[in-house]
Amino acid sequence: MKQIENSTILVTGGAGFIGSNLCEYLLQYNNKVVCLDNFATGRTVNIQHLLSHPNFTLIVGDIRNLSDCHKAATGADYILHQAALGSVPRSINDPITTNDVNVSGFLNMLVAARDAKIKKMVYAASSSTYGDSESLPKVEDVIGKPLSPYAITKYVNELYATIFQRTYGLNTIGLRYFNVFGRKQDPNGAYAAVIPKFVMQLMDHQSPVINGDGNYSRDFTYIDNVIQMNVLAMAAENPEAMNTVYNTAYGDRTTLNDLIASLKKYLSDFDPKIATIETIYGPNRVGDIPHSLASIDKAKNLLGYQPQFSMQQGLKEAVAWYWENLK
Ligand code: NAD
Repeated sequence: MKQIENSTILVTGGAGFIGSNLCEYLLQYNNKVVCLDNFATGRTVNIQHLLSHPNFTLIVGDIRNLSDCHKAATGADYILHQAALGSVPRSINDPITTNDVNVSGFLNMLVAARDAKIKKMVYAASSSTYGDSESLPKVEDVIGKPLSPYAITKYVNELYATIFQRTYGLNTIGLRYFNVFGRKQDPNGAYAAVIPKFVMQLMDHQSPVINGDGNYSRDFTYIDNVIQMNVLAMAAENPEAMNTVYNTAYGDRTTLNDLIASLKKYLSDFDPKIATIETIYGPNRVGDIPHSLASIDKAKNLLGYQPQFSMQQGLKEAVAWYWENLK
């Protein structure tokens, strides 16, 4: 895979789950990495080991503040924009803050990227943009109506990115992430994602709670596949590959019941009692889509994407990481 080396890269949201993994990866290739984060959901522990690295700069700042965005973007070759407030339920509870960060903050980053004359901004889009579209697998051109305030904000990002290309010539690529999981994903808090939440519950011998009957399915995507997509998107030079969006996924789907069965299997290697923990079932959650499965053909054809980790391979890695670091 073509690497990005000896470049300056701004990672917004660089103290978060995906952002901190990107920072760590990019530093291995002699890049200078600038991390802009306000620690709304990001954590110092994710980047603690990078703080003394000579090529790493942390800017504590807010993407809702244009001058913070300008300061962070100045001198950058690329921007990997990850900063946002994730979670559908959070956006339902507080649509105004989600919109401020995810839409106004995104617009600020586009303006800062334009003014800094960077080569390309790669941004975190979302599978939630498929909304109520029932077609499977999801192909980039066919989307439905959004099902949550969060989904609207992520779709608006795509619209703004297109306009900035047309109006100011700013090159962007949007990566529609599908349920990303792996090391450093926060298991705590009301808005934690299912995999780290279930892992922590099982490690504590608590029953995981599924919203619904467990037959909803997701295209769970291991973090290393997401890193690969970010690198490929930065490296892309073919005009056809730019100023568009890509599904960022493995291209397979797993039900929540099967997910729990796999987690129990892998965790039982560390603690056999976990195999006997029962699952609790609750009501479906507002704004959840029943099934999600990506076509990854566009990313394969235009970016040369070859996911290296299946969901099962990724789960084994993630479970071992949580056991070692958080048990
Ligand atoms: P995360 O919450 O771990 O990371 C987001 C980071 O952005 C955090 O470090 C947070 O402190 C920072 N941030 C939030 N508001 C900010 C602000 N106003 N100014 C500066 N920094 C701010 O979440 P993540 O899972 O790493 O998600 C990264 C990106 O990927 C987000 O844009 C998210 O919407 C998107 N995404 C994630 C998934 C997933 O499955 N994890 C799926 C689809 C899209």
